[in-house]
Amino acid sequence: MNQTSDNTNPYPTSPVMPEMFEGDKVIQFSCHKGIGCFNACCKSIDISLTPYDILRLKKRLSITSTEFLEHFTFPFEMEMNGIAGVKLKPVENGTACQFMTNEGCSVYEDRPTACRYYPVALLSMRRQDEYVDRNAYALVKEDHCLGHLEPRSLTIDEYRNEQGLEPFDEASRGWRQLILKKKSSGPTIGKPSKRSLQLFFMACYDIDRFREFTTSDSFHTIYDIPDDERATWASDEILLQFSFRFLRQVLFGEDSIKMSEDAVLVRRKQVEDTRMRLELEAAALRAQHEDGPLDEE
Ligand code: SF4
Ligand code: SF4
Repeated sequence: MNQTSDNTNPYPTSPVMPEMFEGDKVIQFSCHKGIGCFNACCKSIDISLTPYDILRLKKRLSITSTEFLEHFTFPFEMEMNGIAGVKLKPVENGTACQFMTNEGCSVYEDRPTACRYYPVALLSMRRQDEYVDRNAYALVKEDHCLGHLEPRSLTIDEYRNEQGLEPFDEASRGWRQLILKKKSSGPTIGKPSKRSLQLFFMACYDIDRFREFTTSDSFHTIYDIPDDERATWASDEILLQFSFRFLRQVLFGEDSIKMSEDAVLVRRKQVEDTRMRLELEAAALRAQHEDGPLDEE
């Protein structure tokens, strides 16, 4: 139920076994009420949330995403890559999950992806020669978890089915791809701007604020979105998919959302200004380099 890793490769310090598997790998595992370790994994949590986890939980609790983030999560920086992530916040002055009860998980039908996957860890990855990302899995074996001793065998694919993971993985695929793309684009010069971090955070995790943003004048001025497409954004799930598309355009220059003519002109000018600035900086650096030995004499 609890999991110590999500889409990141946690080797070598975690209890994740240092071996990667495909979905047809057979595992021995069962978790059920009455098992000796019941709730043990929910007593000390380290759970990263996906954007879709947040949609499910805020709906379950009948609150906004902004309220959910404030009361039930804290932000963190994924892998020092300047990618904003969100984790479940434990109970005050403790390590247990706020949703844990003596009877088990109080949000069971809407529990997060990481809780569903446990004791499997999902590792999304993309090889350099591959266009699409693919999933690989690892197994988490923690001493306190007795589920590995239960006499039940099934494949990881069967386990994913049983745990209802398909809609969760499908709805957050665009988010995982953004993270992979950000990682594979390598270290940027300096830190990513505060604005791009905030934008990523809002678009991925705070869907209600993102919806407000899409109704703002500034958004209208820049993007040319047909009314019938806007109407579909009443659905959180559809808006979330648009938010990933929006981020691909803003952060990686993908051109899938039509911009107004004025905005295109402004953007062209910005690109040209940036190119000029970089050229000037490079020229200044070259000049500095050539002057360097003279200064040292
Ligand atoms: S959300 Fe539920 S399953 Fe996940 S850690 Fe909390 S109580 Fe456990
Ligand atoms: S078997 Fe493992 S996953 Fe299930 S309650 Fe025990 S510690 Fe948690």
